[in-house]
Amino acid sequence: DTVPLTRALISVSDKTGLTGLVQALAASGVEIVSTGSTAKAIADAGVRVTEVSSVTGFPESLDGRVKTLHPGVHAGILADLRLASHEKQLDELGIRPFDLVVVNLYPFRETVASGAAPDAVIEQIDIGGPALVRASAKNFANVAIVVSPSRYDDIVAAAAAGGTGLEVRRGLAAEAFAHTAAYDTAVAGWFAEQIGGTGAAIAADERGTEGVSETAVPDAEPGFPATLTVSADKTATLRYGENSHQQAALYLAAEGHGIAQAVQLHGKEMSYNNYVDADAAVRAAYDFTEPAVAIIKHANPCGIAVADEGLSPELAIANAHAKAHACDPLSAFGGVIAANRTVTLAMAETVKDIFTEVLVAPAFEAEAFELLKTKKNLRLLTLPEGYGREAVELRQISGGFLAQSTDVFDGLDASTWTLATGEPADAATLADLVFAWKACRSVKSNAILLASGGASVGVGMGQVNRVDSCRLAVSRAGDRAAGSVAASDAFFPFADGLEILLEAGVTAVVQPGGSVRDEEVIATAAKAGVTMYLTGERHFFH
Ligand code: 5GP
Repeated sequence: DTVPLTRALISVSDKTGLTGLVQALAASGVEIVSTGSTAKAIADAGVRVTEVSSVTGFPESLDGRVKTLHPGVHAGILADLRLASHEKQLDELGIRPFDLVVVNLYPFRETVASGAAPDAVIEQIDIGGPALVRASAKNFANVAIVVSPSRYDDIVAAAAAGGTGLEVRRGLAAEAFAHTAAYDTAVAGWFAEQIGGTGAAIAADERGTEGVSETAVPDAEPGFPATLTVSADKTATLRYGENSHQQAALYLAAEGHGIAQAVQLHGKEMSYNNYVDADAAVRAAYDFTEPAVAIIKHANPCGIAVADEGLSPELAIANAHAKAHACDPLSAFGGVIAANRTVTLAMAETVKDIFTEVLVAPAFEAEAFELLKTKKNLRLLTLPEGYGREAVELRQISGGFLAQSTDVFDGLDASTWTLATGEPADAATLADLVFAWKACRSVKSNAILLASGGASVGVGMGQVNRVDSCRLAVSRAGDRAAGSVAASDAFFPFADGLEILLEAGVTAVVQPGGSVRDEEVIATAAKAGVTMYLTGERHFFH
């Protein structure tokens, strides 16, 4: 089943990694045939290369529209050498077979995205490339097809080790067909848009591929492309999904700098649920510029806090953690913790005594790491440099995807809020209101978050009415509800939820406003002598 690598056809628009690939292939004695600018790049790298025109006996023509579209090439790719008859025919025709084809396609999507004119876009519809890819993939029994520079290392290793195995070639073929299907979907989406159609979705079949999928989006809003490209490489098979009877895997987005790229330094393998919770934890902690810690259970915060002012960096993050933990120690058991600063020894000393599934941070002090390493099961992760969320969030629904620009707090400034009733808050109360407003953004709707001294003290989340969220927040806060401030992720549709907060002794409230009953809600706050700010903006998070 192993096919030795002896003769490669290489034709790539994206020349990433090309030099290293061809140098290594040449060193393994692989003959290289190539097209126009690819051949030039190979020659420039000091590697011997045969121009495809000398194989076909036909010049590359029509401005590159016809380069490899020739029986001299395609018979060499499609011959099934397990059949004596095919081998014999190749001999008679004087055609030599290829055992490796490396192709990536004209940058169609990039050209569309650049706003190029239709004629220029059409010129970027690759014809010969997909033919090479599909022919090679069909004949994976004999040919290895590589469509991504991320596979070059594997191919170089295979060349040095005597060839490619059948299962490797089959996997490459699956990737290849997904690649061309995705490409044609982009072309189809663009055409649909051109003719003013609905951009009917022709989804690439992503089953069995490694995370390449693509769908044309009808009537895209400005800022959202007509075609959605999701490209990610499978990096890990997870033990199971949300439940033990579900299969699961992790895919890395090509340009990602998020939790998926985090490096695990210690502990048991990350699970599907660990990733979900770690993502929620990091999202919450990184909403703050000051040292902050979020503790997550089942995708919801059971504690969020920022450090008290004026503490040393060593103590600040430990202080934020202690405050976050104090919010709901019962729920924090078995939680996932994210810190937006280096984990210090002071923080590690507290965390080590709390059963915790995951701790993720930008970095760990050496002593903190040594100490936490003594906890066999605790997973320790560092975030990639330049951690950040994608500008667009995707959610799968059956038959498609929803996309939205990510909810961010850039430029949040309480000066844009309207004081609906009560005395303007003093500096400390205003700081708590701002904190609560930010923190409640990480709480699943309906969200009510009570805060005091830069820490959540009671969180009501995930209820199907706001009254129950208020009850939950108040009961979790216990006697800490009195004197706390409250944030609500969306308006109060009635005064009933607010009344629960007021009875518990909340002194100031921030909420978006915008309900038809705002007047009634504001009057209720006014009657209680409580300050209420309206943000004009809600932060649902479902
Ligand atoms: P090069 O930059 O080497 O001149 O061309 C590389 C690109 O040409 C690759 O993206 C490949 O998919 C594409 N290609 C290879 N053969 C043909 C062909 O016969 N016709 C067209 N239109 N594109 C081709």
